[in-house]
Amino acid sequence: MDKSKMHIESETVHADHPTNDPFGSHVMPIYQTSTFRFDTVEDGRKFFAHEEGGATHSYSRLGNPTVDKLETIFARLEGNGLQDQEDISALAFSSGMAAISTALIAMGQGGSIIAQPALYGCTGQFLKEEAPKLGMKTHFLDLNDLEALDEMLMEHSDVNVIYAETIANPTMEVADISAIADLAKAYDVILMVDNTFATPYHVRPLEYGADIVLHSATKYLNGHGTLIGGALVGRDSLLEEYSLATYRKNLGGVMSPFEAWLLLNGLKTFNLRMERHAENTMEVAEYLEQHEAVSKVFYPGLKSQPNYNLAKSIFEGGYGGVLSFELKGGFDAGVHVMENVEFCTLAVSLGTADTLIQHPASMTHSVMDEELRLQAGITDGLVRLAVGIERVDDIIADLKQALPEIESVTA
Ligand SMILES: *Cc1c(COP(=O)(O)O)cnc(C)c1O
Repeated sequence: MDKSKMHIESETVHADHPTNDPFGSHVMPIYQTSTFRFDTVEDGRKFFAHEEGGATHSYSRLGNPTVDKLETIFARLEGNGLQDQEDISALAFSSGMAAISTALIAMGQGGSIIAQPALYGCTGQFLKEEAPKLGMKTHFLDLNDLEALDEMLMEHSDVNVIYAETIANPTMEVADISAIADLAKAYDVILMVDNTFATPYHVRPLEYGADIVLHSATKYLNGHGTLIGGALVGRDSLLEEYSLATYRKNLGGVMSPFEAWLLLNGLKTFNLRMERHAENTMEVAEYLEQHEAVSKVFYPGLKSQPNYNLAKSIFEGGYGGVLSFELKGGFDAGVHVMENVEFCTLAVSLGTADTLIQHPASMTHSVMDEELRLQAGITDGLVRLAVGIERVDDIIADLKQALPEIESVTA
């Protein structure tokens, strides 16, 4: 069998098979070393002169075999199906934020950025607070308003990056990646997409014209909630043009070999996990949508969503594992659910095997200015659920007993 023609579902399973292991190890060893021995002076010279035939590694901040192995599978996952998938590479980082900030510094410097207003919290904070000190200004705009985006690009000739998330939190709005990419191309601007929520199982933004895909590998790529990690994926020519590997080396946000090994292990079940996350979440979303204590459910896979057709046209195999819902009883109802869940875990984050639940107004966003919180769509009764891969009946049974009862109002 021609191994290069392996399907992606098999490739993730085989991803950690090492080549040339001296002991025949079946899975990729953890190369837990800071430095690498050169056999000869010439080997070392060739490495630093970027010449073929010398040493392959020198120091783990510049590259490590376990991390390299992981990067090849990240690139395959996001490049799968592209004609030029051979030219796609990935860089692993110590966290999603390390990948995001490194990419923005390398590619956004000296100009301005256009970003969607509802961003992952720390990304928004970086753009609002740190980036301006580095000379980068950010314009916040609903990127799906293509006319406004076109106008803004026309008005600001210094824009060099458009920054989107495939699925925005908490409204779960889906970005129209291919339409945004067309505008990015027309104005010669780089389109970065944070694909953490959707994952390459459902959407591969490069296919729709994005230039750089970003990940918090902490979430679904690892899938077990055991590490913090990040990744950046794009075409070799672009990564080289902007010296992204050099920025990573010098800013220093590299992934450790142990984290890379955990990720290689987690990725073996990536396809199975995503399939189950998506199936379960759809069922939970449908259950919540008909529940009388719930006024609204946000999930890209529901027909009731304003951009369901867009989601349907770019998502494959479901719509991911995160949903949020609005309780009719507001803040108190949110606290009631949190105090009554027994099976779901009260925790932030997503992409763990088990179901996590949180109420932003009383937990993560309780200290945020109320007006800003409401502007961000985080209302008093909003609950976020990161649905796990358990038997869905157990998740629904827990929600059923934790949701407040509503006296039926009959006129
Ligand atoms: C978690 C997350 C990040 C940040 O990733 P870390 O690994 O925590 O640094 C960025 N974007 C999204 C959408 C996330 O969910």
